Amino acid sequence: MRFPAGFRWGTATSAHQVEGDNVHNDWWAWEQQPGRILNGDRSGSACRWWTRAEEDFDRAAALGQNAHRLSIEWSRIQPEPGRWDEAALERYREMLRGLRRRGIEPMVTLLHFTVPLWFAERGGWTREDAPALFARFVERAVPALRDHCDLWCTLNEPVGWVFSACIRGTWPPGGRSVGGAMRAATNLARAHAAAYHAIHRHQATARVGFANYFRLFDPADPHSVLDRFVAARQDRFVNRAFLDAVTAGRVRAFPWRAHIPEAAGTLDFIGVNYYTRDLARFDPLVPRQLFGRTFPGPGLPMSDGAYGVIYPEGLYRVLRLAHGYGRPVFVTENGIPDEDDDQRPDFIVSHLREVWRAIEEGVDVRGYYHWSLVDNFEWAEGWSLKFGLIALDPATQVRTERPSAQVYAEICRSNALG
Ligand code: BGC
Repeated sequence: MRFPAGFRWGTATSAHQVEGDNVHNDWWAWEQQPGRILNGDRSGSACRWWTRAEEDFDRAAALGQNAHRLSIEWSRIQPEPGRWDEAALERYREMLRGLRRRGIEPMVTLLHFTVPLWFAERGGWTREDAPALFARFVERAVPALRDHCDLWCTLNEPVGWVFSACIRGTWPPGGRSVGGAMRAATNLARAHAAAYHAIHRHQATARVGFANYFRLFDPADPHSVLDRFVAARQDRFVNRAFLDAVTAGRVRAFPWRAHIPEAAGTLDFIGVNYYTRDLARFDPLVPRQLFGRTFPGPGLPMSDGAYGVIYPEGLYRVLRLAHGYGRPVFVTENGIPDEDDDQRPDFIVSHLREVWRAIEEGVDVRGYYHWSLVDNFEWAEGWSLKFGLIALDPATQVRTERPSAQVYAEICRSNALG
């Protein structure tokens, strides 16, 4: 099963999860509050990428990878409203140069969940001027980095973030209001649009997309009209709403309805983040979940920490869904928490078979970024979930390659599945 020539093979990371000592953002503050993170974990020095990313870039190159998706940290570049840190931008330039020197082509994400504390304290994404503030950061960052990157991912999983941070309240700012959440969603779509236009103004060759969180929802009882109804609503809101916003400029995905004309046509590619599938059952007691109680369902293997079932066909299904929007696609994240690596080798191969099947059927998939290179700080789950091809002990910084790293390396090197 050969992949197209020039296919990008890599891994994905995000700044806060790997850099360490991101003391100026909302997550750092959140981690200091008791009860927020499992086991009281903190990101701390994370994987020490701020000073030593290049050692892991060497490992990625040795594993045959030719691409890497990383994010830049807004709060490092603009730690205070009126202060821009040129040294931070220079460090990112150095990282991007370092990737290219190793034959690794970067994709840069401009916002992967974390925001500067000053921005959060002003009301974050619910504020009217949030898109303009984000655009100011983009206007600063992109000219500084454009010589070293032309593939840009504006936002990581905007709808997933809205759900965890503004509806469920398990991520900062801990909001639990549907109205506030919908304001934030609309502002994120405006922010994406502003970033899209700014990037294209600064770089003629740029390709700009965002990483969409895809999760499949199948009706728990396929014969139940209500289960089918709630599964379809969840699919519309989680998987399609933001794509509708940045292609058509209009969203009709209960409870999010918006007209955002400036966002129409602001998408050059779709980033697909796919992990798992749920079943949905109608339940009038869970309005915040759009009246659908979700659960993993029987019959499929479960990964560590009950994170989700392993359902490779789901990747094929979401690639087909993305294809419907008529843009090229990158799998910007796909992975599994699996500390002892007894599931990951097969996870990688089975999911890539589905990518190959989609390509064979005409879906324009340009690359695959496995989540992740090294175990990293997994948000509210702290250090408990291990997503790395390479294991990391955050206390000692000792790294140990898992067997799946070589399984993936073989695929990357041969551009094919055996
Ligand atoms: C996020 C990552 C996260 C991964 C594993 C994705 O939804 O973009 O930041 O680490 O899932 O949970």
